[in-house]
Amino acid sequence: MKTMMAAQLTEPEKPLELVKVPIPRPGRGEILIKVKAAGICSSDLHYQDGRSKVTKLPITLGHEVAGEVAECGEGVRGLNEGDRVCLFYLATCGFCMECCSGNDNYCNEAEMLGKNIDGGFAEYLVIAARNAFLFPESITFAQAALLTDAVATPFHALSRADIKTGDSVLIIGIGGLGLHAVQIAKIMGAGQIIAMDLEPEKLDLALKVGATAVIDPQKDNVKEKIENLSRGGVDVAVELIGLPKTIRQAIDCTGLGGRTVIVGICPEEIGLNPYNDLLLKERTILGSADQSRVDFPVIIELASKKRLDMSHSVTYEIPLEDINLGLEMLKQKEENLVRIVVTFP
Ligand SMILES: [Zn+2]
Ligand SMILES: [Zn+2]
Repeated sequence: MKTMMAAQLTEPEKPLELVKVPIPRPGRGEILIKVKAAGICSSDLHYQDGRSKVTKLPITLGHEVAGEVAECGEGVRGLNEGDRVCLFYLATCGFCMECCSGNDNYCNEAEMLGKNIDGGFAEYLVIAARNAFLFPESITFAQAALLTDAVATPFHALSRADIKTGDSVLIIGIGGLGLHAVQIAKIMGAGQIIAMDLEPEKLDLALKVGATAVIDPQKDNVKEKIENLSRGGVDVAVELIGLPKTIRQAIDCTGLGGRTVIVGICPEEIGLNPYNDLLLKERTILGSADQSRVDFPVIIELASKKRLDMSHSVTYEIPLEDINLGLEMLKQKEENLVRIVVTFP
């Protein structure tokens, strides 16, 4: 039996363990992927510290994955050995009403790569062929890995907000997702794009990729600044952090008819006054979970035509052996960090 290296979570609050495990075999309709790049996401920290629950232990983490097709299982059509693909990270049934109507993220059977099934911090993984999306050589493997979450998640969220040409958009949290959210808002036709973060370096980066204004809540009066920048409140606020305080801030920053999209994971109560917060200004609060397969062809097109600038997206590439160092760097929120990507030769 052939073996490979994998970085597995064996118990919560412990470093990942580098172990030798058998290379999985693709079944009918499945493909074996030789992983070339896997992004480290904040969610990986949450699986590690137990804030979000994985459903099996040990588990190979890693849900932002790009690689090469190494083998096609029986019945796979349209893919060949050596194809460059990035992966939609939800393994879904493919047959239910939700899967068939482009809402795969609602599928009852959905299992997530690196949370419910073994993910991409390994040399190989197996997944259904329909989870794979081809991408051209103009996109690197590391960038393609980021398309699957750091780009796809804010793309899905901003699609939910139904941005109209000239809308003002506030992005709260300029990390791996936020930097791409700024660009996607611009592509979707937003006028004023306001980036909010505590780190000046992140705000500088946001300005480089298309933000028209920035807010540092430690220095600026958020309420005043938003009112000045957006005629009383923004049309769309996207919350990417997941704290009660910032979710509250997102809602408060929206104006008449404003839409708040919550992407950050926050299991706590936030408090809401239905009259003041919703009715009076006809505001809407939306949730956005993961993304859908239908988002992939669009974001791959945007990245391949360089409409989406991914030149700032990959901060570091590290080998699998350094995975725990990468997780620690993300935890310490090192300056200017957008994404650390584990890459394979
Ligand atoms: Zn993620
Ligand atoms: Zn389904």
